[in-house]
Order: sequence, then C-alpha cells, then structure tokens
Amino acid sequence: MKHISVIGAGTMGNGIAHVFAQHDYRVQLIDIDEQSLKKGLATIEKNLQRMVAKGTLEASRVAATLDNIQAGSSIAKGVAEADLIVEAATENAKLKMDIFRELDQAAPPEAILASNTSSISITQIAAATSRPQQVIGMHFMNPVPLMQLVEVIRGYSTSDSVTTTILELSEKLGKTPTEVNDYPGFVANRILMPMINEAIETLYHGVAGVGEIDTVMKLGMGHPMGPLQLADFIGLDVCLSILEVLNEGFRNPKYAPCPLLRKMVTAGKLGVKSGEGFYDYSESRKAERISAQFS
Ligand code: NAD
Repeated sequence: MKHISVIGAGTMGNGIAHVFAQHDYRVQLIDIDEQSLKKGLATIEKNLQRMVAKGTLEASRVAATLDNIQAGSSIAKGVAEADLIVEAATENAKLKMDIFRELDQAAPPEAILASNTSSISITQIAAATSRPQQVIGMHFMNPVPLMQLVEVIRGYSTSDSVTTTILELSEKLGKTPTEVNDYPGFVANRILMPMINEAIETLYHGVAGVGEIDTVMKLGMGHPMGPLQLADFIGLDVCLSILEVLNEGFRNPKYAPCPLLRKMVTAGKLGVKSGEGFYDYSESRKAERISAQFS
C-alpha cells in the first residue's frame, strides 16, 4: 500500500493527509473547493512546523512530508492510482453516496474505499458501490496528528482481509485501532454526542453559562476540554449532522438535537472553523487556542 487519496481537505481531511504523508505514503488530497484545499495545505505546514518547534519531528521531515502531498480538485484524476481512498467530505449521507459511486467508477478495482464518517452507516455507503466487501469505516479523531484512536467500522459486507489491512495500516501510522460494528454513531459518537447535546441543553435552560459548564466537566470529571469547547472544535454543523443520524437511526427522542444547536448552525456559528461558536475565535484568539490544543 503506497498511494493514498484523501477526499475533502477540511478539519479532518488535512489531518489525515498529514499523517499518511508523514509516514511516507504518497497522498493525493482532493477537494471541490479551492479555498479549502489552500487552507488545508497551509494547516498541514503550520502543524508540521509546530511539531518541529515542540521537538516531536525532525526539521528535515517537513519538506519531505509536504513533497508527499499533491493537491487537486478532480476525483477521477486523484484516485486513478490509489490503493486506499479515505473519504473525509462533509457529513451528509447523500453526498457520501454520490462520492462513493464516483470512487467505485474511478478507482482501481482492488482499491479499498474507506470513510471517515462520524455516524453514517458504512453499509449504506457501501451499497452505492459494486465492491461492498472493500468498503470500511476508518474514523480518525480530531486533531488527527495527535489523537491515538482510529475507530475501524465493519459494514455488513466488509471482508475480514480488508478489516485486517486497515487495522494493520492504522498501527503503521502509530495509531491504536479499535474494531466496532456498524450502528448509528458507532461507539465514539453514540456516547460523546448525547453528552455534548446535554451540555447545550444545560446552557439553553439557563442552568449555567458556557465557561461554568465547561469548568464543571474539566475540573469535576477530569475531561481535558469542556463539552462546549469540544463542540466548537468538532464543528457545530458536524455535531448537528451526527445527532440527526442518531435521532433518525434509533428513533429515540433522547438524541433530538437541542434547538439552540440548530439555531447556531442556521446562523452560521459553526465553532473554530467559522470564527465563532460557544467561544470567540477571532484570528488572534484562534491561534492562541489552537496552539494550546497542540501543546
Ligand atoms: P469540514 O466541513 O471541515 O470539511 C469537509 C470538506 O469536504 C470541505 O473542505 C468541503 O469542501 C469538502 N467537500 C464537500 N463535498 C466534496 C466533494 N464532493 N468532493 C470533495 N470534497 C468535498 O468537515 P470535517 O470536520 O473535516 O468532517 C469531514 C468528515 O469527517 C465528516 O464525515 C465528519 O463527520 C468526519 N469527522 C469529523 C470530526 C471532527 O471533529 N470535525 C471528527 C471525526 C470525523
């Protein structure tokens, strides 16, 4: 396995490209939006430099890692030689099924098609292809260069050999993979998202303010980051999409997204990526918070 294509250069896609390239895989990073591609490449360079400053990466590895990445906007061109494709586009089932239909046409027949989806059924995504046995969930955590876990999700038809390949590959990237089955939200978000939603409900009902809620969870429960700040880092739009999948998938009102979350997403307050969520991320504050996250 040498050639990896990553679809989507946003929060997760640029981190996934970074980690593969740092481990000497040749990476094609593909996004339909030119601005996202530029921003994604700039983020990779910034994060590599940050690792050098912290002493966790040799300075000579920065250029070598960046040389391993080619960016483009065409899926057909970008996946023609791929051994593995990791899709990290927007969390939307229809969009992902369209992308997987296109990947199935354009990628070599033996290529593995993985999705970084947080919650959407791998079995449903696989059904858009003619190779469901080669479709799998490879769910990295944010920020990808730092977080240890890869949740590996087997769809209904995913083969044993494809699962083994992805488990071994995750280890080669220095990660710890954990195999789970394909139900809405898998394990990570089935547990995390109700907690984040409840933190937003707590704010919505006026029980406490943003800082107070996060302080209780940080100092009282030992969480490294409060749930509202974490929601800002994940993206409030992503949180809303995941809760919708849980809500529809289980038909249980306990997963219904808080009206405040819905309102903030409608207003374009998406968290770090839009500059404002539960906290303010104006340029100077944003740099400060992201460097705290990486220290
Ligand atoms: P994002 O909004 O930051 O980035 C999504 C990118 O996909 C954008 O740059 C967009 O231009 C691009 N895109 C949309 N349609 C495309 C297409 N047809 N072809 C190519 N590119 C396309 O989103 P994100 O937070 O990086 O999330 C990506 C995926 O990763 C989602 O499935 C999400 O659920 C999952 N995920 C997110 C997090 C997180 O913390 N944000 C964590 C784990 C998994």
